[in-house]
Amino acid sequence: MRSGGNLVIRSATSALALAAALVAGFRPAAAQRPGINVFLYHFDIQLPDTGAAFSAVASVAFTRTPEAGDALVLDLVGLHVDSVENSATADSLAHRFSYDGRSLRLPLGAVSERAIGRVTVYYHGTPTDGLAIAAESSGRRSAFADDWPERARYWLPLVDTPGDKAAVEFSIDAPARWRVVANGRLLDTLDLGGGRTRWLWRETHPIPTYTMVLAAGPLAVSEHRPAESGGSRTPIQVWTFPEDSAFADSVPFRGATDIVETMERLVGPFPYEQLAHVESSTRFGGMENATAIFYARRPYVTRRMGESVVRHETAHQWFGDAVTERDFHHLWLSEGFASYFDLVVGAALHGDSVLSQGMRADAEAYRKSAVVDRPIIDTAEHDIVKLLNENNYQKGAWVLHMLRRQVGDSAFFRGVRDYYGTYRDSSVISSQFAVIMEHRAKKSLDWFFTQWLTQPGYPQLDVNWKSNPFNQRLTVTVTQTQPVAWGVFRLPDVPIELRDAAGHTARRSMSVDGQTTIVRVDAPFVPTEVVVDPDGALLLTATVHAER
Ligand SMILES: [Zn+2]
Repeated sequence: MRSGGNLVIRSATSALALAAALVAGFRPAAAQRPGINVFLYHFDIQLPDTGAAFSAVASVAFTRTPEAGDALVLDLVGLHVDSVENSATADSLAHRFSYDGRSLRLPLGAVSERAIGRVTVYYHGTPTDGLAIAAESSGRRSAFADDWPERARYWLPLVDTPGDKAAVEFSIDAPARWRVVANGRLLDTLDLGGGRTRWLWRETHPIPTYTMVLAAGPLAVSEHRPAESGGSRTPIQVWTFPEDSAFADSVPFRGATDIVETMERLVGPFPYEQLAHVESSTRFGGMENATAIFYARRPYVTRRMGESVVRHETAHQWFGDAVTERDFHHLWLSEGFASYFDLVVGAALHGDSVLSQGMRADAEAYRKSAVVDRPIIDTAEHDIVKLLNENNYQKGAWVLHMLRRQVGDSAFFRGVRDYYGTYRDSSVISSQFAVIMEHRAKKSLDWFFTQWLTQPGYPQLDVNWKSNPFNQRLTVTVTQTQPVAWGVFRLPDVPIELRDAAGHTARRSMSVDGQTTIVRVDAPFVPTEVVVDPDGALLLTATVHAER
């Protein structure tokens, strides 16, 4: 997603001993349901003609192992549960449940391992979050969901963790003058009479619960050219309030099809059946709901919306939605990838400066941020919303940019394609990406991922150089001066440019490893100036002095 405003990290703990996080990941105990795998949700939703209360029926299909214990626990916040039907237990317990306003507990009987259980929950209420059913001052009504990170549970009963993805069907009854979009493909609409219409949407691929959404209102829909790639065809739609339709089609979404086709060329097939871009009431600038990306309303209304947010959210369909971080401490697998592919796709469509300028801006934003003293995989941070920070976005993009330089374009893109192909429709942690990239690069990258994902900060180099006019050699002494808590970085290929007063230039490279490194560099002329990382290829700062 894209968010606005500055976010500040406030917790401070040991920055060390985090290498283990790469392997194990951090799992907040309450968020996971060991032994339970929900594979399909079916939601029947009755959207009201007036007011903000709704009623619904949720059917949850799951498999279980003995680890699951004696109850199925569904997250559901602040609603009224009317009754349940539970096929996963004895008849005498089939209607038994307990609900404390946050967790719905249903007894599990002695169902054999891997047997399919199905529970149906009848509930109603007025959501305090997650689903906004509201009227504008003009009286125009609409309903928009907004789930990230754990707000789907305010309107849907689910195992609300990115580690348990599932397919989802929505059957939504709404006022007949509304159009309704949810995840997946529109299967049917049904005139119910009495000014009501039923919309049936189905997503067959498992998607994260934080992307299970609906949008409903008097919306206009425009069909864009479908994305075509390798025989597959992806319909692309833009859903807006009617007065914003012409602007949306011609400015932010003008390249919507090109963006999908570029991602398909670079990464692999579009993961789902279709893609809708939806004007909504999300609190985020954009929210990457699988197949139905929601965007904040205001940038449409002010006509300030550009293409970058569209590229970012579209890239999330591959990274975040199809390949999902198993827990939020690996959020860079979603946000770092979306931030980087925003720029990579932008460069493919509009020229290389999109990438170079974007990376420079990302580096500046990161270095100025309040989270430089925290690592990307920040297991000490338990407030998920605070993980929407410059580590997971800007530094995450830089990790990919530097990885690409480290292994070369060919290995990088083959590795990214392998990673997508291997883990599409599942949930992963960072080490699974690292293993695939090592395989493609045919070398160990453990040091790379460990230093960039588990060490805070970035290298701050103090560079002293001295030329020897007799043998045209430079002696360059590089000292890493960043705070001790950030650790020491290994930089096997730091580019330098030698310049003289006559306008000669020469490029060389130095390998920096350890607190202080002394490098000897052959110079074709006696330089008057040495520039470290002249193209801004690395996330570092350098202060350069000539020793006379
Ligand atoms: Zn994002």
